Amino acid sequence: MSILDAQYDLTEFRRAIRNWLVQVVPPDWKARMVRASNEEYIAFQRWWMAERSKVGLAIPHWPTEYGGAGLSQRHLIAIADEMARADAPQSRMFTISLIHMPGTLLPHGTEAQKRRYLSGVAKGEVWCQGFSEPNSGSDLASLRTRAVRDGDHYVVNGQKIWSSYSMYADHCLLLTRTDPTAQKHRGITYFIMDMRSPGVEVRQIRQANGRAEFGELFLTNVRIPAENMIGAENNGWRVAQATLASERGVIAFEGGERQRHEIEAFYRKSLESGATWLRDAQLHREFVGFLAQMQASRRLLRRVLEESETPGASASVLPSIVKLSATVLRQRICSFMVRTAGVDGQAFATLAEEPFGSPMFDFLSAFSGTIAGGTNEIQRNIVAERGLGMPRV
Ligand SMILES: Cc1cc2nc3c(=O)[nH]c(=O)nc-3n(C[C@H](O)[C@H](O)[C@H](O)COP(=O)(O)OP(=O)(O)OC[C@H]3O[C@@H](n4cnc5c(N)ncnc54)[C@H](O)[C@@H]3O)c2cc1C
Repeated sequence: MSILDAQYDLTEFRRAIRNWLVQVVPPDWKARMVRASNEEYIAFQRWWMAERSKVGLAIPHWPTEYGGAGLSQRHLIAIADEMARADAPQSRMFTISLIHMPGTLLPHGTEAQKRRYLSGVAKGEVWCQGFSEPNSGSDLASLRTRAVRDGDHYVVNGQKIWSSYSMYADHCLLLTRTDPTAQKHRGITYFIMDMRSPGVEVRQIRQANGRAEFGELFLTNVRIPAENMIGAENNGWRVAQATLASERGVIAFEGGERQRHEIEAFYRKSLESGATWLRDAQLHREFVGFLAQMQASRRLLRRVLEESETPGASASVLPSIVKLSATVLRQRICSFMVRTAGVDGQAFATLAEEPFGSPMFDFLSAFSGTIAGGTNEIQRNIVAERGLGMPRV
């Protein structure tokens, strides 16, 4: 029975995914990827997406009229859970393609845009997000990349930064300023930009952990057809809220489950090797504290998933609380692993992605979680202002 044929019984569905994962994921994939170059890693990501596509697991949650299988959130959770359990490859390069792009186009795109772009992801098309600018991150609405109408096109000039995997992207979700005289949230327009357009230059950025996953976009007189606008002119801020809201949910669930398996494996290995930290009461207490926090984080996340299926719950501050607790916990766990690994913990190598089991690499990588998708300070502001009703400063 194929995986999608098994969708009507969740237990069978899980079993079908598990069998497929055993057949398709090479047991040595981590060893092969451990020090892979960016190019090897990207080729691997493309291969993995093609494999998912063959069995209908590339875009299973999208409506059938746009190439998906129309599966429910329960199915998505089952897929994420099985992927995490099997320690299967992640599809990081496709995060924007799988989450943010449909999260934007399904509610705000034209029918022509949905038909043109949604099914492309299953064929391997990569999307990036061009929101942040060198002087507009947390205060995104202050962005200055300018788009000026010229006949049936817009001409775009400006600079974007921290655009994940933009070096490999086919399309970009782009925020621009179309009315510099309007109040800052009101003069923004949202476009789909073809990354191969003349005038688009992407420069890779090397990170503290040695990888280079981000690009900086330099846009010089880039012509974007007016039909590529998502939503109305100067209404891009509202559309952008859909993109940002789509980050919540299943992706964080999978991350949490992967972390649980990772920390359980770490404990098992420590027992097998008789690690010295096990005899240190303070370290032991710290570790047990992680387990408790992890459980709390997992429970909160389930509440977020329930809320995401409840109409009108979008104003909840729960996603901010989950993000805060999960990212800080991740940093603390990584710090613990570095400290308990002794001299080996200080060794550093750049690996394909985290978590790959190298304490220092994972520790350095863990900092990005407190910045991505709105920094933890901004999340605290949201909890304080929207959740607790404290005054804005
Ligand atoms: C892994 C990762 C992936 C990313 N992918 C993308 C992507 O694909 N596309 C994209 O456009 N961007 C992406 N980003 C960028 C990300 O959205 C920004 O880094 C983030 O919004 C913060 O903006 P900034 O870096 O300009 O920091 P700033 O906004 O300059 O903030 C600097 C510091 O000041 C603090 N601060 C700022 N304002 C306040 C305030 N009002 N109250 C309290 N503290 C404040 C911040 O918390 C932070 O500590 C990514 C970032 C990461 C780490």
